[in-house]
Amino acid sequence: MFNALVVQQPNASPTCRFQNWHQSQLPDHPVLVKVAYSSLNYKDALAVTGRGKILRNFPIIPGIDLAGTVIESSDTNFKPGDNVVLCGGGLGEDFCGGFAQFARVPAEPLVHLPEGMELDETMAAGTAGFTAMLAVLALQDAGIKPDMGRVIVSGASGGLGSIAVAILARLGYSVTAISGRPEHSTYLTQLGATEILPRKEFLQPAKPLEQQRWAGAIDTAGDQLLAKLLAQINYGGAVASCGLAGGHELKTTVMPFILRAIKLLGINSTYAPAELRQRACLQLSETLDNRFWKSISQTISFREIPAYAEKLLAGEIRGRVIVDMNND
Ligand code: NDP
Repeated sequence: MFNALVVQQPNASPTCRFQNWHQSQLPDHPVLVKVAYSSLNYKDALAVTGRGKILRNFPIIPGIDLAGTVIESSDTNFKPGDNVVLCGGGLGEDFCGGFAQFARVPAEPLVHLPEGMELDETMAAGTAGFTAMLAVLALQDAGIKPDMGRVIVSGASGGLGSIAVAILARLGYSVTAISGRPEHSTYLTQLGATEILPRKEFLQPAKPLEQQRWAGAIDTAGDQLLAKLLAQINYGGAVASCGLAGGHELKTTVMPFILRAIKLLGINSTYAPAELRQRACLQLSETLDNRFWKSISQTISFREIPAYAEKLLAGEIRGRVIVDMNND
């Protein structure tokens, strides 16, 4: 038997409960992992509080990230004792995830622990870090180079935003951070932002075209804020759209696309193909070091997940939350 945080059915009340589960209740996937750490993402907070339709099979254990050690495997790429990491790939959405002391997972999205990283550091990165790296790679692939002008990041003191700021700064980009929390200005400067702008400045209605200000953008907010960024991107620039912390709508015009030739790049980490997954993981471990991961994360116990999910949705968390699955 092992401890798991379980959502029994859609619209359950309370949404989730801590339960004792048996390994036979886990899905029929080839790799059994003893989970050492998980992490708390925006999506997990929606799943745990029941405020978003994230979960697709019931009963289910949420948790879209895990890091741990292989116990048994019928896939030849993994053997007992291997340290492994899984971010997304349907974990904690389509099948049971990381908020339990054991998980049975598919081999395809599973990766070996990157060289130079500890298990808990991979969860300081987690889906947020992986997605931030995918967004930066998308901007690079769209031809956005450091000498083309400033790159702006929204939701900058959140998990994805913090890591995006740090990656861009280390790659030589001049980074502007948008944040709704002025108290995190020093933190954002330490991450590498050289300009910090208040979120409310970007929540005014956007004109079809505004003054050109940014070579590129990484947006975690969506809605009005994304519409504003699109209107301000330089000719030939690009925006990586990653999130919806401000809302899922997008009311814009075709003007920035047909008059400034800008690109809107959609980012999805969950179903990223294996090759892209490996490219992003490698680049992430080469760009950010152990000291960085410690500086942006806090570690909570397994039992604290529901309380921290509420805090995260209330915008009270800075950076990343690691969950220690052995601290009950
Ligand atoms: P966090 O909660 O850690 O960060 C979100 C940040 O957004 C907050 O810290 C806050 O930053 C800002 N924010 C909060 N409310 C609003 C608002 N109303 N309008 C604008 N900004 C707001 O979440 P994550 O970093 O984990 O995720 C960020 C977004 O990215 C989420 O929507 C998530 O679903 C999405 N995401 C998408 C992925 C993909 O594959 N496409 C993968 C991972 C996440 P501040 O106070 O600094 O403004």
